[in-house]
Amino acid sequence: MTAQRIRLIKCHVCGKPIASDANPCTECGTKDPFGWVAEKENLERVKSKALLTSVQITGFLFFIFLLIKFWEPLLNKFSH
Ligand SMILES: [Zn+2]
Repeated sequence: MTAQRIRLIKCHVCGKPIASDANPCTECGTKDPFGWVAEKENLERVKSKALLTSVQITGFLFFIFLLIKFWEPLLNKFSH
């Protein structure tokens, strides 16, 4: 029995099984047979979205900080 060293992976574009090291695809010739480029782009999109969210959170925390900073003297004014 011979072990299959080359793993067959379905091409991302044409859906045909190709060798895991076949790049470009031997069936349809796409340069992104495993969806790596698409995955990377997707990852970048998720990253930039996460960055945007963290910026929003930081902005919100800063807003809360300012609110407390200006709210405290106001409370002190009323407590006296
Ligand atoms: Zn293909």
